[in-house]
Amino acid sequence: MLLQDKVAVITGASRGLGAAIARRFASEGAAVCIAARDQARLDEVAAGIEAQGGVALAKRCDVADARQVEAFAKTVLDRFGRVDVLVNNAGALAFGSFLEESDAQWQEMLDVNLNSSRLVTRAFLPCMLEAGSGKVVFLSSNAAKKGFPNDSGYSVAKAGLMALTRVLAVEYGTKGIDVFAVLPGLIDATDMGESVVEDHVKRFAGTRKAFYEWANPLSPKGHHPTVESIVDLVTFLATPAAQVLHGQCLTADYGMTPY
Ligand code: NAP
Repeated sequence: MLLQDKVAVITGASRGLGAAIARRFASEGAAVCIAARDQARLDEVAAGIEAQGGVALAKRCDVADARQVEAFAKTVLDRFGRVDVLVNNAGALAFGSFLEESDAQWQEMLDVNLNSSRLVTRAFLPCMLEAGSGKVVFLSSNAAKKGFPNDSGYSVAKAGLMALTRVLAVEYGTKGIDVFAVLPGLIDATDMGESVVEDHVKRFAGTRKAFYEWANPLSPKGHHPTVESIVDLVTFLATPAAQVLHGQCLTADYGMTPY
């Protein structure tokens, strides 16, 4: 098993990609500590993991709230004493053109997608430094690199995660910490991905068929990432073999956003 006896923290793991990462990490032998705002859904994810023989700690935490993040970190460290892998996955996406986006919506995008990752990483990095090793993965988006309409706050926040990745990589790389960002393209099987499809259908395409006829050829492979494809990548980043990729922001969209 790739993550035997590791302790992993995954934020935004009540559903979608985060829940899938938690399940995979647990199946690879890690004890997983999962956070999100919906305790009932977190408990369901944890129960599923435990039913498969895994170890899970589920705690309600709004990752944009510093006090809740500190309480979550205390619960994790009181139980496990260390964290080997941190996946900053929690995120939210609200739509609106630049002029439509209210100050509150812009701020929410920065809080949930960027500031939250700072708060959570700040809470767990000291224990990694004490151990002399640790892996931090940020879930950014290809929206950080490619201009998409109607999500300026989200895109700016995700671009901020790329900068944070590079800064942490140089500040802590010599101290045993590996830092990565993953920039997925559209993952339409999650709630967020579905909301992207719905928004594009409403604003531009008219029908789902028309949306996919436009969107699929944007990738030279003709399709977009599945949840499993991103889970595979994040799992690989959590292993020693990924160390050579330290500091990289990995676009994961089947070539839709070439360098
Ligand atoms: P999703 O289905 O909408 O799930 C988002 C997760 O984040 C949920 O578990 C949600 O749980 C949690 N969350 C949201 N706000 C939170 C908060 N304030 N505090 C704690 N948890 C919070 O999204 P997804 O598609 O799985 O996306 C996962 C990550 O990949 C996100 O960072 C997203 O930006 C990124 N990504 C997604 C796509 C895509 O097309 N789906 C593409 C590129 C990047 P609660 O509601 O229970 O809090």
